[in-house]
Amino acid sequence: MQKLRILVVDDSPTMRLLLSMALRRQRTFELVEATDGMDALKKLSADSFDLALVDINMPIMDGFTLIELVRKNRDFQGLPIVVVTTEGASADRDRAIQLGADDYVTKPVQPNQVLRVVNALLKVN
Ligand SMILES: [Mg+2]
Repeated sequence: MQKLRILVVDDSPTMRLLLSMALRRQRTFELVEATDGMDALKKLSADSFDLALVDINMPIMDGFTLIELVRKNRDFQGLPIVVVTTEGASADRDRAIQLGADDYVTKPVQPNQVLRVVNALLKVN
């Protein structure tokens, strides 16, 4: 079976670990991690991905800028983006959706929520 490739973009190693652990419960996912928006753009350009999970607050390039650049780039146009926001940060969430994110999950990360949102966008299950 073809694995679905997911890019996990977060500057926090702990958050990357938690998101990856949640997604690894589904064996059809292959995960790649990026530490900030710039790192994510490099990885998206070098390889093909089926979905990206994107944190907002990151050094070098934040999630808003990343989402904006991805949506402006024809090469990445169909890429589903799930933004990872802090619970209650509805302004961040709204701005990310306005910039082109498809959906969101909230921290603290709940594995079931992450899988539900990702699977809905990938039309898995
Ligand atoms: Mg962060």
